[in-house]
Amino acid sequence: MEKKGTGAEHVSYRHNVFRNKMLGFEKILFIIMVSVNILYIIVSFADKNLPAIMTEDIIRLISVTVVQIISCCSFRMINSRDNFSNETKNRMCCISLVGLFAAEELLFYFCEPLWVGTAVVMVISSFFNDRKTIFVIYATSIAVWIASAFMYNYGVTSAVKALDVRDFTATFLLISCVFAISVILYNFNKLQVEDVVEYYDGEKKLQEKLSTDYLTQLHTRFSIYENIKQAMHDYYFSGKDVCVAMLDIDFFKKVNDTYGHDKGDMVLRTLSRVISQYTDDTIHAGRYGGEEFLILFSGYTRKQAGKILEGMLTNFRNQEYDFLPEDVIITFSAGFTYLDNKNMDVEGFIKCADEALYYSKEHGRNQITYYNDLKLRDMQVNR
Ligand code: GH3
Ligand code: MG
Ligand code: MG
Repeated sequence: MEKKGTGAEHVSYRHNVFRNKMLGFEKILFIIMVSVNILYIIVSFADKNLPAIMTEDIIRLISVTVVQIISCCSFRMINSRDNFSNETKNRMCCISLVGLFAAEELLFYFCEPLWVGTAVVMVISSFFNDRKTIFVIYATSIAVWIASAFMYNYGVTSAVKALDVRDFTATFLLISCVFAISVILYNFNKLQVEDVVEYYDGEKKLQEKLSTDYLTQLHTRFSIYENIKQAMHDYYFSGKDVCVAMLDIDFFKKVNDTYGHDKGDMVLRTLSRVISQYTDDTIHAGRYGGEEFLILFSGYTRKQAGKILEGMLTNFRNQEYDFLPEDVIITFSAGFTYLDNKNMDVEGFIKCADEALYYSKEHGRNQITYYNDLKLRDMQVNR
């Protein structure tokens, strides 16, 4: 997973990195535990002083190993699928570790791996900012602790009972300490997560502000240039069609001079609203400067781009303004071009659209000119 823009995405990214490290740790742990289990069998067979190994020991060993394999594999499987949320993946990381440790406990009938496992998982949950899991694991450990205490109370002599009461009290205190540490770590981590979210969300908002023109809410010149550069790059590497259009409002100075600058602003906002009706992931629009706009079509043929521009012009012509007499319409002129030259830079590409726009202005305005038609015409005139 990549680092993304928003704070939440950055937090997810960090959790992913941590989870993948835990995946490696779990693999090593699994190898160690399985080796210990096999060693246990070998030593039991080899050492005549130890109690003889029984069939039920073998069955227990196989079931434990199966539980451990299932724990590890299910975590790996869920971690690699996109349809599971990050929260589920984080929890699965904790559950699979509990499974690994608890199974080991089942094999040897001693509590340490379970308690160590519980402690490890509580601390890990605090790094995943998962308070619910910390509490659930703590409650489960206490339940297991009480159940074990009962079993000992009703099953063994009073001498052993006295010893085990101390053992269990120590375990209870230990696990409660780890619980307290996990809650402290969780709260400390929460502060860091809040800082990360605030920082990256703020940065994203700032980026959006810098790439959005205040008056028209379209891209800024810098931002649309970046988009055009990317589209040209795509054309060079995959041959994806790219068209660029330059639009300029006709006699806009007259609107300003006659009706005032605020009415001029209204016309600018109206045109940007019209343009925005056509923009999406494939059509981007930006303010080039003043009353001039750049439109980028990526993945559109010249014919398709031309048709969309005609639609925009008709739409803009039909806009009504309450400050204008009914017989007056506001129009724009445009020029557009199609990228077919791999040696062209952004400036050169935009200049072609600008030349075509100039032709529209010179030949009556309120029209769209295609740069290559212009070139063709020039060639015929020169012949
Ligand atoms: P043409 O048809 O040849 O394009 O004529 P025009 O009057 O539109 O062209 P010109 O370049 O002479 O005028 C552009 C005007 O746009 C001049 C400037 O005052 C105005 N302008 C530039 N930016 C803004 C703006 O943000 N708001 C307003 N209201 N006017 C602006
Ligand atoms: Mg102009
Ligand atoms: Mg103009």
